[in-house]
Amino acid sequence: MCARESREAFPARGHDHRACVAGALGRAEAVCARRGAQLTALRRRVLEHVWESHAPVGAYGILDRLSAGGRRAAPITVYRALDFLMANGLVHRLSSRNAYVGCGLPGVPHEAQFLICNGCGIVSEVQDKRIERAIIAGAEGVDFAPDAALVEVRGLCPDCTGGGAGGGDRSGE
Ligand SMILES: [Zn+2]
Ligand SMILES: [Zn+2]
Ligand SMILES: [Zn+2]
Repeated sequence: MCARESREAFPARGHDHRACVAGALGRAEAVCARRGAQLTALRRRVLEHVWESHAPVGAYGILDRLSAGGRRAAPITVYRALDFLMANGLVHRLSSRNAYVGCGLPGVPHEAQFLICNGCGIVSEVQDKRIERAIIAGAEGVDFAPDAALVEVRGLCPDCTGGGAGGGDRSGE
């Protein structure tokens, strides 16, 4: 049922995140190869930094990580890499935070809804066609031609509401 799907939309605490990153990089390579787009070493590293966690990261956060232990990268190079990643559907920009998250469904045109946790900061991307259709119908009803319909919803994830399937919560100590 829907409730189960939405719960699974959030990555479990302590999951194998390296598998998420490896999967994302693999999908990115496949998408770029199919589109004839070049996933250069820098673009790949920026994507890796976006995927470092399930929380959104700002361009300057990426810049700091890129520059750690080496030459300071120029902000413009990070912005260009992010533009490339967005143009190829590999990351989304959350305008409310001016930050970026990796897309779980790259290479497939879609509108997305983002569930943003106020507690731990992680973001889950869901694609619900009913929401998309409702937005388009509402916009067309007032003769507005929608271009993009990214929806950001703030709240609490299953872990932060304490509704998770046990484990990981040490607040009772
Ligand atoms: Zn993960
Ligand atoms: Zn997406
Ligand atoms: Zn949370």
